[in-house]
Amino acid sequence: MKPFERVLIANRGEIARRIAVTLQELGITPVLPVLEKEMEQVIPLFSGCTLVPSGDGIYLDADRLVALAKETGCQAVHPGYGFLAENAGFAAAVEAHDLTFIGPSPAAIEQMGDKERAREAARAAGVSPVPGFSVDNLDEDSICEQAAEIGFPVLVKAAMGGGGKGMRKVDDMTQLADALRVSREEAGAYFGDARVFIEKYIENPRHVEIQVFAFAGGPVVHLGERECTVQRRHQKIIEESPSVVVDDQLRSAMGAAAVRIAQSVGYRGAGTVEFILAPDRSYYFLEMNTRIQVEHPVTEEVYGVDLVSWQVNDAMGNPVPELDTTGTPRGWSLECRIYAEDPARDFMPSPGKILLYREPEGPGVRVESAVRSGSVIFPDFDPMIAKLVVRAETRAAAIDRAVRCLNEFVILGVVTNREYLVRVLLHEQFQEGRFDTGFAVTYRDDLLVAQPEPGPELLALAAWYRKSHGPCNDGETTDAGQPVFPPVDGFFP
Ligand code: ADP
Ligand code: ADP
Ligand code: MG
Repeated sequence: MKPFERVLIANRGEIARRIAVTLQELGITPVLPVLEKEMEQVIPLFSGCTLVPSGDGIYLDADRLVALAKETGCQAVHPGYGFLAENAGFAAAVEAHDLTFIGPSPAAIEQMGDKERAREAARAAGVSPVPGFSVDNLDEDSICEQAAEIGFPVLVKAAMGGGGKGMRKVDDMTQLADALRVSREEAGAYFGDARVFIEKYIENPRHVEIQVFAFAGGPVVHLGERECTVQRRHQKIIEESPSVVVDDQLRSAMGAAAVRIAQSVGYRGAGTVEFILAPDRSYYFLEMNTRIQVEHPVTEEVYGVDLVSWQVNDAMGNPVPELDTTGTPRGWSLECRIYAEDPARDFMPSPGKILLYREPEGPGVRVESAVRSGSVIFPDFDPMIAKLVVRAETRAAAIDRAVRCLNEFVILGVVTNREYLVRVLLHEQFQEGRFDTGFAVTYRDDLLVAQPEPGPELLALAAWYRKSHGPCNDGETTDAGQPVFPPVDGFFP
């Protein structure tokens, strides 16, 4: 097989930058579609890459992306995460044009993208999914009967759901019929597929997932777990590896289960098998994400690997890296997702212009982002600004390091969850490792704080920034009538 010379990254933001870095180390030129409105901001962040000015909607336009890869002489496409990363049709279109899709086969994406089929695959591999059943061919009486059998509360879930959306908790029988009707309507509207199924709601669970990697024609390995229990709105905000509750024995068992599932669907490349871990330490298959994940860096940090280079090398047909599959993680890694959002307003996105941006540095610190001072967080995309990833010898040291970094992180101009993350890290229950997926709700009052006023040093920096870059409030508004660039005069002396 011929090595790749150019690879199209069908994505934007921090993950595009993350992938570009590895491609460049491998001597491959990254090619990226960039929105015209973002071009000026990202040029300095992607030096050495080929940036193609593109219209809005490019990241969801499979035909245009494939054409772009061909026009620019690419041999392969890396989908990143989000957008078309888990779209079997996109993977198939890439392959139909004689390009390599850096990811699993379209068939595996299709099978695991459908949560109901994924549950069947897990069962076939001898792994229990969360107790539940499909409601598609059942009349109302049978649905009620089966729901009563697994026991309330239950969750109604969309087969094609994702990103924390498409789930509804149902506490008792009287709510069930309505919940099903509304969920079907929503699933149809959001995911273009109205199928829903019912799962037992596991009380006080943790979300623990296993990173797997299936080498072409070679072994399928796992790289331990990621603890992703700290969530808001069913979406992760802090992830760590290893997990405080996973010992070697549980790691081997869950790892082996994840590997069997990947093998059973002929998986290729990097993937994540998500589990719900009950307080009694029983674990259930939740879903499989057939792509590199937002939180992959914590695994890289404790296993000392570059998963993106594994993906690219494997796709080029290069041999399997030396790997100690018996290896346990070394040290501790934590990731904090820093969002332009307002924890005090139910984590509502707060897009706008970042007036001043400065990342923390130091040993064991890795920041993944694609913004700088002056960048705009547009309302059209996920409002993640940066991922702070730290590594240290122990969990306590990793927490201290993350707190230090969050306190040093300068992000002025938009409301962020930075201070909220500090509160989580300093919370006694978090520090003691005693938390479940309800943490953010249970300790809401402890965790919420008003965004602190910037101190004199920051104000001086911000004043300097405005002097050299001009005023920042352009008066544009979003669809909801909110200013795109919120008034920032309060930030200046
Ligand atoms: P993870 O489990 O890695 O957090 P998610 O399923 O939450 O993965 O999605 C990964 C990222 O991709 C999230 O930031 C999400 O907002 C984004 N994303 C998912 N689907 C889309 C989409 N259709 N368009 C844009 N971004 C998306
Ligand atoms: P998504 O595709 O949106 O990531 P998941 O099925 O992975 O959906 O679930 C997202 C989150 O919702 C989980 O991490 C967990 O916090 C919660 N959740 C999902 N299923 C259950 C369940 N059966 N019981 C309790 N919590 C659940
Ligand atoms: Mg999930």
